[in-house]
Amino acid sequence: MFADHAMRPNERTTDRPLRADAALTFIGTIRTPWTEREDCPRQGRLDGPECRLQIEAPWDAALDGLEAGQTLEVLYWLHRSRRDLTLQSPSHVEGTRGTFALRSPARPNPIGTSLVRLERREGPVLVVRGLDCLDGTPLLDIKPERCAHSPENSGMDSI
Ligand code: SAM
Repeated sequence: MFADHAMRPNERTTDRPLRADAALTFIGTIRTPWTEREDCPRQGRLDGPECRLQIEAPWDAALDGLEAGQTLEVLYWLHRSRRDLTLQSPSHVEGTRGTFALRSPARPNPIGTSLVRLERREGPVLVVRGLDCLDGTPLLDIKPERCAHSPENSGMDSI
C-alpha cells in the first residue's frame, strides 16, 4: 500500500486502523510535469512551471468569478502518501519529528495545500503556477487567498 515511501531510521507508525468519518469528493485532477515524488519540488514556487487544474463537471460551473493574476489556495489529496507515520525522519531535516510538526505528505489525512497564481482559464481548466504535486493528484478544493472577511481586507468585494 505504501510501496513508494519506505521507512527511514527511527520512524514510527501506528497499526491502528484509520477511522473513516468524512467523505470527500474529488472535483478534478491536477496535471503537472512530475511523475515521481523525488522530482517534485518540496514546496511550489510562483516562478515554477505551469500546471493545470482540470475541473470536472458539474464543478466547472463553480469557476465563475476567478480572474487571471489572482492568488488561489489549492487543496489536493496526496494520494500516494502513507498515512500511518506518527514520527518521521525527513531526509532534509536532522533527527526525528512528529508528523504534525512537518509539512510532509505522509499524514493521516494527506491533504496538501499551495498558494498558486492563476495564469489563465481555458474552459474547465485553470492554468496555474506554484504547485508541488505529482501528475494525476486528485483535486479537493480551490479558494481565493483572501476574502472580505480577511482582517486586513475588510471592504473587499469577494466573499
Ligand atoms: N505544499 C503542500 C503542503 O505544504 O501541504 C505539499 C507539500 S509536500 C512536502 C510536497 C511533496 O509531496 C512533494 O515534494 C512530493 O515528494 C510529495 N507528493 C507530491 N504529490 C504527491 C502525491 N500525489 N502523493 C504522495 N506524495 C506526493
